[in-house]
Amino acid sequence: MKKVLAFDVDDTLAVTKSPIDDRMAESLIKIAKKFQICIISGAKFEQFLNQIINRLNTEEELLTQFHLMPTCGTQYFVYSLFKKGWQKIYSQDLSLAQRKKIILELEKAAKALNYWPEKTYGDIIEDRGSQVTYSALGQNAPAELKYQYDPDGSKRYEIKKILDQKLEQLEVRIGGTTSIDVTFLGIDKAFGMKKLIENLKIKKEEILFFGDKLQPGGNDYPVKAMKIDCIEVTNWQETVNILETINLLTT
Ligand SMILES: [Mg+2]
Repeated sequence: MKKVLAFDVDDTLAVTKSPIDDRMAESLIKIAKKFQICIISGAKFEQFLNQIINRLNTEEELLTQFHLMPTCGTQYFVYSLFKKGWQKIYSQDLSLAQRKKIILELEKAAKALNYWPEKTYGDIIEDRGSQVTYSALGQNAPAELKYQYDPDGSKRYEIKKILDQKLEQLEVRIGGTTSIDVTFLGIDKAFGMKKLIENLKIKKEEILFFGDKLQPGGNDYPVKAMKIDCIEVTNWQETVNILETINLLTT
């Protein structure tokens, strides 16, 4: 019996960096009445609010069903009715010196490879505390440009190869659509799932995970590799169809 439905964000719940569709919001509200919901992605916490939570037109009590894991599970937030807001359970922050070094090396590598764009859409590198994120075209680049930029990840792999040499004690991961995330070593979505299991005192068999990058090398693959049941989707429309079906079957 599943207790938790866990979701990646980009291309699983929404178009990259865009707010969820009304149909998705409606399905999530319905399904959160039956299962706990975990959302895990490389995005920062504020992005979770903008893309998903603020789109859920629902009563406060239902928010307590949600477990938010921004920056690949290096942070974990739950909703407190008592405090009337989101409460941080933990944040595995990098030191200031580590973050400075990561920023420097990312910029150097991207420029050396000629991948630093002339026209940018917002910050290319963002310090998210527990993670430093490189977004090739900038944080706010239009989705269609992002999807065209590096569909097979080969540009980012070149940057990763350089960084793996320079940042030995850190994890350099190819993220969503145009991003590279740098965190402590050993951080991936499996790390987040282990923290969720610990916190909820559940078994991994009680989780069902939805993601679009479940093939080896994909950022959702570590969840599959730890033998959590997974459903692979290619876009949010597929996910919403499955959620609507689960909602129908579980009433
Ligand atoms: Mg994704």
